[in-house]
Amino acid sequence: MNAALLADLRAALDAGAVLVDDEVTSRAAGFMQTDKLKARVLVRPRTTQHVAAVLRLCHAAGQPVVTHGGLTGLVHGADATPVDLVLSLERMNAIEEIDPLQRIAVAQAGVTLQALQEAADEHDLCFPLDLGARGSATLGGNASTNAGGNRVIRYGMMREMVLGIEAVLADGRMVSSLNRMIKNNAGYDLKQLFIGSEGTLGVVTRLVLRLREKPRSQDVALVAVAGFDRLAALLKHMDRALGGGLTAFEAMWREFYELVTTPPALSRPAVPHGHPYYVLVESMGADAARDSARFGAALETAYDAGLVADAVVAGSDRERAALWAIRDDVMQVARDGMPFIFDVSLPIFAMEGYVEEVRAALAARWPDHRCWVFGHLGDGNLHLVIRAGAPDPETRSGVEHLVYGPLARIGGSVSAEHGVGLEKKPYLGISRNAEEIELMRTIKRSLDPRNILNPGKIF
Ligand code: ZN
Repeated sequence: MNAALLADLRAALDAGAVLVDDEVTSRAAGFMQTDKLKARVLVRPRTTQHVAAVLRLCHAAGQPVVTHGGLTGLVHGADATPVDLVLSLERMNAIEEIDPLQRIAVAQAGVTLQALQEAADEHDLCFPLDLGARGSATLGGNASTNAGGNRVIRYGMMREMVLGIEAVLADGRMVSSLNRMIKNNAGYDLKQLFIGSEGTLGVVTRLVLRLREKPRSQDVALVAVAGFDRLAALLKHMDRALGGGLTAFEAMWREFYELVTTPPALSRPAVPHGHPYYVLVESMGADAARDSARFGAALETAYDAGLVADAVVAGSDRERAALWAIRDDVMQVARDGMPFIFDVSLPIFAMEGYVEEVRAALAARWPDHRCWVFGHLGDGNLHLVIRAGAPDPETRSGVEHLVYGPLARIGGSVSAEHGVGLEKKPYLGISRNAEEIELMRTIKRSLDPRNILNPGKIF
């Protein structure tokens, strides 16, 4: 970066907004990354106007820009290089408005997911996006990656919760598209350009988000299931029987369940080991007594139909939290060294065969591999966590081919909810055809002709 650009940035922003040297390189590079942040400079604007000023200067200078939210992504989508400028939205952390009648929130992009959840809760509302990194992940990052998480089956992904967006284009033009209505078909839905495009088309600075009425009841069960066909049938059964109340259907293959319920994991088996599949089922509604009765009856008819091998239903808040703690103790997969983490989508009918195919291929090459499978079955989204051989790039690439290869034939996706970043870039062609990728490139060239926004990510 040239000295003139640095001086221009300092002149355009307030004191404390432009960091260099140790103030940059002492920061962590990202979640589950051991190295430090590599970048020439880090700027921390406070307003959309400041972001616009930064991008105007960077566009004129041809300076690459990597936007940072909470850095909780898993696909190296926010990795920076020593020549990059990092644009951190950490000081744009104001919740500007909550309107309980319209049921919307207006917030800056640097607000954490948890902060918005808590603010909505104070108004007896809920912001239903939820994921393990809620305390650090930001709304801007949630939008830029179209985050998913645990309750997508009921509320959809981040895309379904964003009503309006304010963003800054690569050349510094501000696009304020802060729509506040659920329905607005007046032309192109421009916010979609920025949702899920991983910071390559613009910088999201403010959002209008849809809030929901806060559920009054929560029922949770952990269910053991004797076979995959029954697991798939149980999903349909519970969804139908709960009349729209189903909020989570989190499947765990045997190996994952045993990992997170055996010391040194903190949880103990709520349902005994020995079954091939386990699933955490959750329902939320408006009437605790009636909803619990309906939930119990739905499980009972599932049992009578042979879909349930064993089950435990939580009877208190503490027990509900304990069942969720089993599913949420995902970090157990890293207790003996960093594994390879995958996030794929595929139709439910193909899941059982797919997992068996991957396991067989792994066993043939790495007989002592470990493979833990769990995920959001109702969304067709599985997470595979694999330890095989040495944790080096060559092994990783070998494992990637085994995991992603079968998805082409199945019609699955190499990224269900984590995005593409750098990690899945070589495999984008498995899930997108040449015309789709060319149209993505056309959009990228049109919005960022000098290729300064998160260059090299996605494709
Ligand atoms: Zn997930």
